[in-house]
Amino acid sequence: MKYIFITGGVVSSLGKGLTTGSLGALLESRGLRVCLQKFDPYLNIDPGTMSPFQHGEVYVLKDGTETDLDLGHYERFTSCVLSKKNTLTSGQIYEAVLQKERRGDYLGKTVQVIPHVTNEIKERIYNAGEDADAVITEIGGTTGDIEGLPFLEALRQLALELGHENVLFIHVTLIPYLRAAGELKTKPTQQSVAKLREIGIQPDIIVCRSEIPINDDMRQKISLFCNVPLPCVVEELDLTCSIYELPSALHRENFDEIVTQKLKLNSSECDISAWENIVRRLKSPKNFCKIGVIGKYTDLQDAYKSIHEALVHGGIENDSSVEIINIDAEEIEEKGCAELLKSMEGLLIPGGFGARGINGKIAATCYARENKVPFFGICLGMQITAIEFARNVLGLSDANSTEMVPKTSNPVVHMMKAQKNISDKGGTMRLGAFNCKLLHEGSRTFQAYNTQYISERHRHRYEINNDYLTLFEEHGMIVAGKNIELDLIEILELRDHPWYIACQFHPEFQSKPNKPHPLFSSFLKAVLRNK
Ligand code: GLN
Repeated sequence: MKYIFITGGVVSSLGKGLTTGSLGALLESRGLRVCLQKFDPYLNIDPGTMSPFQHGEVYVLKDGTETDLDLGHYERFTSCVLSKKNTLTSGQIYEAVLQKERRGDYLGKTVQVIPHVTNEIKERIYNAGEDADAVITEIGGTTGDIEGLPFLEALRQLALELGHENVLFIHVTLIPYLRAAGELKTKPTQQSVAKLREIGIQPDIIVCRSEIPINDDMRQKISLFCNVPLPCVVEELDLTCSIYELPSALHRENFDEIVTQKLKLNSSECDISAWENIVRRLKSPKNFCKIGVIGKYTDLQDAYKSIHEALVHGGIENDSSVEIINIDAEEIEEKGCAELLKSMEGLLIPGGFGARGINGKIAATCYARENKVPFFGICLGMQITAIEFARNVLGLSDANSTEMVPKTSNPVVHMMKAQKNISDKGGTMRLGAFNCKLLHEGSRTFQAYNTQYISERHRHRYEINNDYLTLFEEHGMIVAGKNIELDLIEILELRDHPWYIACQFHPEFQSKPNKPHPLFSSFLKAVLRNK
């Protein structure tokens, strides 16, 4: 087994996750089996309790683990299905170490960062990828952060234990362009590498993020000062069209060749055609459409990451570019639907928590239903459809979710039974993959999936109240999918509408550029048909 560690230098948000995912894609394109892992130095046990404003979206794995959005990139770029083993935070490490201390496992020793915390980190790396040729581990944060030190120390020890031929260090760094001087600057990179070497880590490859191409002189300078051979200075330019250009761009820089050679990984020739195909389709689409995503974290690019990606994937399948407009639900409350939604060809309401912006979302749902605009509701988006339908079609004007109004007299959405006695917020929702049976062969949902049993990932505490079902169905809102074990409504679909589907799960977590999610493909197909 070979181990690849990816660290970041100079600034955060360098796209280390994309580089990690792309390396996974490239190694898979050479016929290798990879396992990807992310370590985050913060003290939260997982990002499940963090606001999207802090951390972007929470990505949910098949086994229900709530993780960093980078794991979403890993799953989109590779064929890996990740689990709890592929994600680690400082919080989890300290929790494990302190539990062992309380149990008396340390036999009277003083418990310290080195070796107890570092051992715990190493154990997670060793246990990561049983069937893989290479484990790729990304370390969150930036070199020089105090929180990251125990991780880097653990990696240094691991390289010593495994021998350098089995371990590769990749440092992703920024080469800033100073406009006034008209120059790229390598100093921050030199200093970041110096920091790593202070800890005892000499990077093998430097991946240089840059706005403009790095010339030979610059490459030589980086090579000399950072102590890496010239071919190991890899340029990573800002991408012009899509993140899915990255595997091919890195391949052109010989990235996968250098990695496999350095680790002496036996592999076949790299077949990059699938990625090139995706990029070709993204660059010259025949169609175009405009989708409004109505949420409350609209200023934050990463808050609905997987939804945005899944829309792009659906676009690839339908040979269409997709312009995504983030619309603030509270702005709809102020200005009304007509002004903000009139140019949208499809509307999507994503998941969310809490009452803020709810009325704007309900208004948008009503607008889509009445004006027959293709509509996709996801998780909270589905619960909103139930509230809207109950209020405006069934005439239950006070219908609500007990999440918003606990004592509402028409609780069309209420807390799941299993959730009622839970007080801890972290990791306690209905999380991960559950089965769903599609009930009507004639439904659009069934047509999209073309199968009866599906499995999708969840993250919710509330559900549609079954007491209202008969009324819903009598008025044209049908239950298209159900979890049989819990008698839980998973999918609602409105009849007599070009496309109106709402689901309790998060389909976006299973969409990939080369395998778009059927609901997203079907939604965009309807949007294009409806134009
Ligand atoms: N707040 C809702 C619930 O807990 C919806 C959650 C979501 O959209 N992920 O059920």
